[in-house]
Formats: sequence, structure tokens, C-alpha cells
Amino acid sequence: MGFCYGVKSTIEKANSCLKAGKKENLPAYSIGALIHNPDITKYYEKEGLKVIKKPEDGEPGFALIRAHGIPDQLREDFVKAGYKLIDSTCQNILTTKNSIRRYYKEGRKIIVLGVKNHAETLCLLGTKTEEGEDISCLFVSDRDSFKDVSSVLDPDTPVLVVTQTTFPKDLYIQVVEEFSSYFSNIVIGNKPCRSCLIRQASALSLANECNAVLVVGGKNSENTLNLANTVKQTGKPVWLIENSKQIDDKLLEELKKFDKVGVCSGTSTPGGIIEEVIAKLYN
Ligand code: SF4
Repeated sequence: MGFCYGVKSTIEKANSCLKAGKKENLPAYSIGALIHNPDITKYYEKEGLKVIKKPEDGEPGFALIRAHGIPDQLREDFVKAGYKLIDSTCQNILTTKNSIRRYYKEGRKIIVLGVKNHAETLCLLGTKTEEGEDISCLFVSDRDSFKDVSSVLDPDTPVLVVTQTTFPKDLYIQVVEEFSSYFSNIVIGNKPCRSCLIRQASALSLANECNAVLVVGGKNSENTLNLANTVKQTGKPVWLIENSKQIDDKLLEELKKFDKVGVCSGTSTPGGIIEEVIAKLYN
């Protein structure tokens, strides 16, 4: 439960961004929704952290790069337009981008595994070399798109495969197995993030121990959706809620049918929201 270290750092830097904006009398922004949690995003917007997507959406000021990171070209565009960037791209993602640069230089083709249009996937796909050259990557989102890759690359092509850190673990294993049996010279650059894997394992043991499970987190959060799917696969009833307000009378009636209800949460769900959910359930 609670924030992963990447999200924790983004929240700390969001506070620094607001502070810097106030001190220098400049606007403060988040490039994309701060985290995948609507309550937190709303709170920070109210505090003055406006969400923008591109430089033209605002006047230059302080702009926070959230944990997912942004494509390198977009980073350059913000700097050119006069913004001061506060970077909270998670270290795991920065390391993966460096692997892409290194292995591309060594002549490998780069394959990015991820959810289509997810911010982190776009950040990985938008990696440039240190010299500023665009690195063209092949994108794979499921087992079917593997066929597209094998139709353009020979089995002896040297490849690097990297994944979005919140990609579903089981699908990741299946796709990597397919790649490993096709390519003779393959480097696997990273794996789904440990923080997410630990939560998925916990959700599974919770589902086995309880009669029903509530997953608390943003409905647009990939790792929260993975938790709900993990529970679903055990056949136990599962509900995905964003906060305690979503535990209405109807849901309470449903939950009363079970002796033991488990609660787990995604990596971007704040502790306060989880505590409110638990308090409501106890009451
Ligand atoms: S889930 Fe993992 S990779 Fe993503 S922000 Fe959190 S710590 Fe970083």
C-alpha cells in the first residue's frame, strides 16, 4: 500500500515546483496529470499547479516532469520556450532510456513493450541519442503485435527489448518468451517495476485469504488496473474504487455478504485515502 518511491518523489517535487513559482512570481505547471489519482491531481490544481501538455498551453514558468517522464523532443521544446523544468522522471525509467541509447549505439534494434499511448511508453519511444538523433523503436503492445515485428526483423537481428514498468506481468512474460524463442541475439533491458510486482503478489495472497477485495486507486492507473485483474483471475469478487466516497450504500450491502474483505492499493494512492476507506469499512 501507499506511494512507490517514484510517486513519492513526484509529490515532493510538485511541492518544490509550487514553492519556486510563488517565490519567483511565475506560474507552476505539471506536464500531464501529476499522478494517476484524481483526488491528488485536483488538490494540486487547486494549489496552483496547472496541468499542461505542451509549451503553447501556458506562459513560461516552472514545469514539473512527472514520474512517467516525457519524450526528449518535448523536453527540448519546453526548454526552448523558456520554461524551467523540475524533473521527477523515475530513476527506473531514466535507466531504461539510457539502455536504449547504449544498445542503439551498439547497433541493436530497439523494441518497446507497453500500453498504447501510455505516458511512460511515449517517453521511452521518444528517446534520442546524446547527439540528438531520434532513435526509431518498434512498438509492441501484445502477443499479436509480435507478428508485426517478426515480419520486419530477421531472427538473427540483434535486439534490445524494454518494457513499460507497469506493464502486466503475465503478458510481459508471454511476449518476452515469444521474442526469446524467435531472436538468437536478444538483450532484455528491464522488467516490470518491483514496486508493482510486490503489490501484485500481495493482491494475489490477499485474494486467496479473503472472500472479496477492494482495490483503491485511480481508474486510469495501469498498476491499479493490474491489481484488480490479478484478483479477478482468482474468481473472487473485486471492486475498484478511487476513494471512500465511492463506497455507497449499494456497495456496503454487497460487502456485508462477505466475512472477510481485503483492501489493497496502487502505487499512486495516497495513505490518507486508504485510511479513509479502511475506516469506513470498519464503521
Ligand atoms: S511504479 Fe516503479 S517505475 Fe513507476 S514510478 Fe513507481 S517506482 Fe518508478
